[in-house]
Amino acid sequence: MSEQEPILLTTPVARVPGIGESRGRKLAELGLNNVGRLIAHLPHRHERIEAEAAISELELGANVTARGEVSATRVAGRGRRARFEAVLMDDTGRLDLVWFNQAYLRGRIVPGMVLRVRGKLNEHNHALQIANAQWEEIDPELDDEQIVDGLTLRPIYPASEAVTSRQIEYAIVKVLDDALALIDDHLDEAYRTEREMPELRQAYRMMHTPKDEGEVVDAKRRLAYDELLLLQLGVHLKRLHLRKKLCAPALACTPRIDEQIRGRFPFALTDAQERVVLEVAQDLSQTTPTNRLIQGDVGSGKTVVALYAMLLAVASGHQAALMAPTELLAEQHYATITDLLEGARVRIGLLTASLTSSEREALVEQIESGSVDLVIGTHALLSEAERFLSLGVVVIDEQHRFGVHQRAVLRTDRNGHTVPHTLVMTATPIPRTMALTLFGDLDVSTIDALPPGRTPIKTRVVGSADRERVYGWLGERVAGGEQAFIVVPAIDPSEIEMMDVRTLMGLLENGQLRGRRLAALHGRLKRETREQIMHRFRAGKIDVLVATTVIEVGVDVPNATVMVIENADRFGLAQLHQLRGRVGRGSRASACVLIGDAKTPDAEQRLAALAQTGDGFVLAQRDMEIRGPGEVFGVKQSGMPPFRVADLSRDTDLLSMASRDAREWIERTDGLQGEGDALVRRRLLKAHGRWLGLGDVG
Ligand code: ADP
Ligand code: MG
Repeated sequence: MSEQEPILLTTPVARVPGIGESRGRKLAELGLNNVGRLIAHLPHRHERIEAEAAISELELGANVTARGEVSATRVAGRGRRARFEAVLMDDTGRLDLVWFNQAYLRGRIVPGMVLRVRGKLNEHNHALQIANAQWEEIDPELDDEQIVDGLTLRPIYPASEAVTSRQIEYAIVKVLDDALALIDDHLDEAYRTEREMPELRQAYRMMHTPKDEGEVVDAKRRLAYDELLLLQLGVHLKRLHLRKKLCAPALACTPRIDEQIRGRFPFALTDAQERVVLEVAQDLSQTTPTNRLIQGDVGSGKTVVALYAMLLAVASGHQAALMAPTELLAEQHYATITDLLEGARVRIGLLTASLTSSEREALVEQIESGSVDLVIGTHALLSEAERFLSLGVVVIDEQHRFGVHQRAVLRTDRNGHTVPHTLVMTATPIPRTMALTLFGDLDVSTIDALPPGRTPIKTRVVGSADRERVYGWLGERVAGGEQAFIVVPAIDPSEIEMMDVRTLMGLLENGQLRGRRLAALHGRLKRETREQIMHRFRAGKIDVLVATTVIEVGVDVPNATVMVIENADRFGLAQLHQLRGRVGRGSRASACVLIGDAKTPDAEQRLAALAQTGDGFVLAQRDMEIRGPGEVFGVKQSGMPPFRVADLSRDTDLLSMASRDAREWIERTDGLQGEGDALVRRRLLKAHGRWLGLGDVG
């Protein structure tokens, strides 16, 4: 490429004058293969540039910055005590450097290297020394002064072994002016002024070569806003598309139907359930597809709300599907609902992996012909959604991972654009920021009270040394007529220190629980065996169920009042709360003992939180503090690209603004069809088109 050839955003980095083939190749390995990508590579932080001084001028006791050539290195001491030493020389003197417990530096710092070091200057053995200095290699090829004059902040870029932050900085500065001139703004001036946002090219300039900290703040605010805005535009566009193109059957909700459905429930609904049933019925009577999240703590009574919605569909001549996360829970729902609907004309089917292929075929045929009204299954049933003759309502029970659900439901957009109403039930409350992020504004109903007569579950955390005592106590409670769960982590033979079902059964049968009726329950049992065991446990013919986490969610046996969880430190917070929720379902006082030796601070915090409170909403909050909201809500699984600048835990105001702006924008332009929307539309589809399934709207 000749010197005169203009630089474009698509120009390969290797062909930019002054960057060159070999560095260009290394940058390309980092994904920075063209000028546009290079400019979009943002620093993850900025560092103050400190004045360097000659070694002889450095002030003892102060934090200093110096530069010199490494003249010698060595590792001294052994093993964990090893330290790495280097000698740094400049024209004025000698500076000793020592790093403790960092012998690996031997491979990184070698004689002949030029380093910039920073740290507190001490005197040691009559020589100048810095211990554990911050250091960076200075590339002698790069003329330092040339980079940018007069900056007090240096951008620090995500770098690799092969390319340093400084080399990236150097390359960016080479193309910055040319590249910035090519960046168009998708926000017009009036829009920016109103929100006090800098122009896009200005934001990039300030990010890469900030004059001061204020510029970094302004640049980040603009870039974070853009990320959130594009996401929100995508989510609202999707929503608009769903609302415009898709419709769901409007279900009849007459007083007669309402009365009939309630007549099936063995109890009066709580006020909280009443409110949610009303919200749901209101939604379902519209042709706009419902997409509502029902959150309610473990044991708050979500099942009857789901059943109410499903029976509304059946009453209007449609079908309904209920999806559970495990086979066991699907089987239990089937049992409960079959019981409640005994003598009614509703035809119920159970679709799980345990069916033989001919049983499955027969059921699918009924689903297709409409000769089954209500189908209960695992989440895998979702893939059969379009086989239903006329699916009116889908309920997804105990969904903890929201992104997954979203993608799955979108898949039902196939036949004639008629989709079922969708209700998602969860015991993990979704915070407002997450609801906005992943769904625009998903409708949320909350069952915020438990059925009457519940007493809190007493929870204790003990070390494994207390195991024997715990089972002694359990034995006494069982002798007094109570039923118990013992939960053991799923069996992993490589981890010998963990309890497994069989070992524990053996110990207990010959020990503290001798003479009691024990049964083991795990995922590898056949369906009939599993159902039989659950049936006998429910009927009080088994005293103690030793189970893996197959009982984690949904299992509902009100007579069980005691639970012991083995290796509790291995479980997540939400999971432990779910597990514990298997007891405390009746009016009798329940107790839960967590046996675990917390090996990490996180594990300790989790166990402590559980002992402190039984409130799932408080625990979810704690869980987010410990693990971060992205982890808790499975943002990763959703396929949403990670934010580069925005931070959901910090930028809540910006998110609200972006959400408001996006909704207004989509409404005003009927889905970005306005004059001048082409650029933002293109950028939006590029960032989010695929994971949001917006291809067909583009
Ligand atoms: P979850 O919200 O955890 O799914 P369930 O729907 O399994 O809760 O309900 C927990 C228990 O509470 C069940 O035994 C259910 O029969 C009972 N239950 C639900 N609603 C009420 C109510 N209004 N009054 C009394 N018991 C109720
Ligand atoms: Mg449930």
